[in-house]
Amino acid sequence: MADLDNLYRQIIMEHYKNPRNKGLSEQPGYVTAHIKNPSCGDDITVQTLFADGTVKDCRHDGHGCSICCASASVMTETVIGKTVAEALLLADNYLKLVSNKEYDASVDLEEAAVFAGVNQFPARVKCASIAWQAFVRTIEEQK
Ligand code: ZN
Repeated sequence: MADLDNLYRQIIMEHYKNPRNKGLSEQPGYVTAHIKNPSCGDDITVQTLFADGTVKDCRHDGHGCSICCASASVMTETVIGKTVAEALLLADNYLKLVSNKEYDASVDLEEAAVFAGVNQFPARVKCASIAWQAFVRTIEEQK
């Protein structure tokens, strides 16, 4: 984390301390996906509610390191209200960005862009990815 831009680090720590959309819903209709990252102890469950081709709600729960928990919080804020196609494009680009692959810079990742610096830390890439991978899984499951 030492080399991450200070502002970015602050945003990540703020989401870690005050996670948005945390806690699973008891209501029916949510699609759930669970991913673990054994190398770091991250354990994340993501729940998505789809309606009319949009992401109506997205929730997360679990535990993990600051990068993992903060990325889950930012992910839910980023995808809620998007169409499924937009959300999938965002997730695809985000996952490419953090794993140092070629991505489409014209796609606005919004607050999720703060995790760009993670791609300099290979051990943290999985941490920053699993919440988004779980979200993508919920999209695949609802089809
Ligand atoms: Zn982690």
